[in-house]
Amino acid sequence: MLDFIIIGGGTAGLSSAVYACRANKTALVIERDSFGGQIVDAPNVENYPGIVNISGAQFASDLFDQAEKSGASFKCETVLKIVPEGACTTVVTDTGKYTAKAVIIAAGCEHRRLGVPREEDLIGNGVSYCALCDGAFFKDKTVAVVGGGNAAFTDALYLAGVAGLVYIIHRRDGFRAEQALIDRAKELNSVRIITNAVVKQLHGDGELDGLTLDVNGVAQKIDVDGLFVAIGQQPDNAAFAPVALDTDGYIVADDRCRTNIRGVYAAGDCRAKTVRQLTTAAADGAIAVDTALKEMF
Ligand SMILES: Cc1cc2nc3c(=O)[nH]c(=O)nc-3n(C[C@H](O)[C@H](O)[C@H](O)COP(=O)(O)OP(=O)(O)OC[C@H]3O[C@@H](n4cnc5c(N)ncnc54)[C@H](O)[C@@H]3O)c2cc1C
Repeated sequence: MLDFIIIGGGTAGLSSAVYACRANKTALVIERDSFGGQIVDAPNVENYPGIVNISGAQFASDLFDQAEKSGASFKCETVLKIVPEGACTTVVTDTGKYTAKAVIIAAGCEHRRLGVPREEDLIGNGVSYCALCDGAFFKDKTVAVVGGGNAAFTDALYLAGVAGLVYIIHRRDGFRAEQALIDRAKELNSVRIITNAVVKQLHGDGELDGLTLDVNGVAQKIDVDGLFVAIGQQPDNAAFAPVALDTDGYIVADDRCRTNIRGVYAAGDCRAKTVRQLTTAAADGAIAVDTALKEMF
């Protein structure tokens, strides 16, 4: 039997593996796609304390090397279900079955895409899903935020402190965001709100430089340097039942990363939390291992 099985090879999962191995425990990381997780798509990371600037791919590669050198083992498989059995938990994948004293779910989440042509190609070249991560790259520039909920308005207010001009583009007339956020945005000269508008086209040769909107059925082109898509995130945690999820599908875990199931912990973007960043993913990895060491060994 293994000591730790870690589901997901992103920042939270690989950080968990480093901490587990350094505690002299065996750790298997199971990843369905490519090791490194979401951050692989980021051209520049400038907010990880102690690292001034690094590409997301290099960050992921360094973290993978660190986990490997610490002694972690790895499998490229998709976890289909977990079966808690009291003192241990069995993890069933598309090709195998593994049992460990502690399981850390670090399955991340995905940002919802707008679904416009060239969106994927322009990620990191003007298209972003994270104002906190990438806002600083648009100092004094013009950006657009798409969305009408709290996330979109929080992003727009944050960006208003960095960029020169911020458009908020929303497909409806009314917003789901709290009124206080809407009022603050409306008070700012650097924020312009365009309602009943849908992004139809992304312009720019290699780098985004404009959008074509459909505003009430009329095409309108605006010049922007950045587009922040804030239409929600999608966790994919259904496979981990009976682990409890909140109404948005995130795993419910306490500040020690404990789920409702003994011996099963949640770390990183897959859990209910307020800040989804590399720092918090890495921190969760350390905390989940520390809690498991105290409870299961
Ligand atoms: C483009 C972009 C830029 C970003 N820039 C920054 C930045 O500059 N600074 C910053 O702090 N944060 C940034 N972030 C956010 C940061 O990447 C995330 O907060 C962080 O990656 C979360 O790590 P995680 O390990 O929780 O999840 P993830 O990185 O999402 O990793 C989860 C992994 O689990 C795997 N997985 C899921 N389900 C299963 C399953 N059933 N079986 C096996 N494997 C599974 C997934 O394939 C994935 O690899 C950025 C995000 C994006 C998308």
